Amino acid sequence: MTKTNSYVDDTKMQLIDLNALNRFPIRLSNYDSENGNENFVLGIECVLEYANNLHVIDAEIQRQGQWVPWAGNLMKCTYCGHEYVDYVECKNFCGNCGAKMSVEVDKE
Ligand SMILES: [Zn+2]
Repeated sequence: MTKTNSYVDDTKMQLIDLNALNRFPIRLSNYDSENGNENFVLGIECVLEYANNLHVIDAEIQRQGQWVPWAGNLMKCTYCGHEYVDYVECKNFCGNCGAKMSVEVDKE
């Protein structure tokens, strides 16, 4: 019987942010050495060393948004909420957050 974590779909590759993982606050150089368990922290170091030796794929975060009519002449990016008077100049991408706009919403 295989034990599964409900957060992990092991049928698909799931990407994580290695830089964020490396900022995990409990490290050998930063833990309560008087009250903490060194073996526990060594386990953390072991997992981080393992993660840092995995194959690295450079990835960009894909932001997806839509233009929606907003007050008066304004159009609003659904991803960041930035408002534009003339959104046509940046129709395919939000100039504020860089979100890709896949579906155009008519102003009327
Ligand atoms: Zn935006």
